[in-house]
Amino acid sequence: MIEDEPHIALGLFDALTFEGFDVVTADTGKSGVALAKQVRPNAVVLDLMLPDDNGFHVCEQLRAVDRLVPIVMLTARSSEADKIRGLEMGADDYMTKPFSVGELVARMRAIFRRADRSPDVPETFRIGKAQVNLAAQTVSRGKAVEQLSFYEVGILRLLVERKGEPVSRDEILQKIWGLDAAPTNRTVDNFIVKLRRKVEVIADKPEFILTVYGYGYKLVVAV
Ligand code: CA
Repeated sequence: MIEDEPHIALGLFDALTFEGFDVVTADTGKSGVALAKQVRPNAVVLDLMLPDDNGFHVCEQLRAVDRLVPIVMLTARSSEADKIRGLEMGADDYMTKPFSVGELVARMRAIFRRADRSPDVPETFRIGKAQVNLAAQTVSRGKAVEQLSFYEVGILRLLVERKGEPVSRDEILQKIWGLDAAPTNRTVDNFIVKLRRKVEVIADKPEFILTVYGYGYKLVVAV
């Protein structure tokens, strides 16, 4: 956990420790990156506003240490632009202060659940002309390579595991986010839109990730 506000750091430390997580903390970007190199964490909770550096830059440095480590950004900012920037910079999730500690714990649990990978899903496969590499979190088409976010990888993994079958939005939410209340079903739809832009030939006319009206989505592809 990289967080400079002592009361938030202490509150999170206590809650996460109580839930059984093994937590180490840093209160600056520089010391946080050094700590990540030393302990190689399974996940990082990262405050966006740090005294010595901004969280976006720290996120980049953490990605240089471990390309796949799940990163949850914490911030007082709530603008959509910041959120998108955070996710594009490699954060896997984003929570706006004030947030409930219970929700953060639930999201951390979901992250660790997703880390238990299904053995039935290959790490690399093609969807049409797109070559997907789940381990590297990339989709390439010709020379163009795009990054996949943590949740995009989770959704793809689930759709591939159940290829040819409709998977409901509720199941996707429950398995990938692990929460009943928030985020909403719209969240799934938004991530599907992003995935289609990366794997479909024409995002608005999907041939592979199909909508099952009133239910969810279905992947039709020979994986
Ligand atoms: Ca701060």
